[in-house]
Amino acid sequence: LVSLKNVNKHFGDLHVLRNINLDVARGEVVVVIGPSGSGKSTLCRAINRLETIDDGEITIDGKVLPAEGKALAKLRADVGMVFQSFNLFAHKSILENVTLGPIKVKGMKGGAAKDLAMSLLKRVGVDNQAQKLPAQLSGGQQQRVAIARALAMQPKVMLFDEPTSALDPEMINEVLDAMVALAKEGMTMIVVTHEMGFARRAADRVIFMADGQIMEQATPEEFFTNPRSDRAKDFLGKIL
Ligand code: ATP
Ligand code: MG
Repeated sequence: LVSLKNVNKHFGDLHVLRNINLDVARGEVVVVIGPSGSGKSTLCRAINRLETIDDGEITIDGKVLPAEGKALAKLRADVGMVFQSFNLFAHKSILENVTLGPIKVKGMKGGAAKDLAMSLLKRVGVDNQAQKLPAQLSGGQQQRVAIARALAMQPKVMLFDEPTSALDPEMINEVLDAMVALAKEGMTMIVVTHEMGFARRAADRVIFMADGQIMEQATPEEFFTNPRSDRAKDFLGKIL
């Protein structure tokens, strides 16, 4: 469903993505881990075209990610993204945060958008917060709203970039549980996270990045019990 072929990206002299080749199948859950600065966020941002690439090709459901214009907006709607910071619209209600995209981008009618939003908010367990403003919710609740908002665009793949790293520990699980449920429902997901519990529960594949390269990929079981490279062993030693 998502395919990267020989993708390279530089920031000036820094080669942040080095010849990345990655195929993510429909329904697959891929967890991306690796040291700070290894290029994990840049990889996610490239897949959503929030970042340009220097060469190589990214395709989503068989279509090459275009550089700009209407075609890009259309394809981007297929890619939902959830960031570390929730980025909700502060002056809009929770409900409006979720209905805005479907109405503005997809031309959905208000009533239908509201129904969709309420069902998604219910799915992540925050439908009782619909009339509140983001600041009135806990971090964990806001992040679950951010997930509902991304789902409202009916994406084909969801990208998560360290979705729980800004949360207090007691709120991490409520967000991870929502993500595990999404994974079990068959959503295609690329998740940057150091939450090994999530990887073990939901990932089909773990990708270890270092220095802008994919150094290893394996099942969670295999990767956590038997990492091959010294870089991966060293990294796991620090986080486990
Ligand atoms: P972290 O675990 O800290 O989030 P990461 O693996 O997500 O790290 P990236 O954010 O992808 O890493 O960054 C990879 C490298 O690219 C880093 O050295 C970073 O400083 C650099 N970088 C990222 N964005 C930019 C930018 N807009 N301009 C210049 N350099 C950048
Ligand atoms: Mg990052």
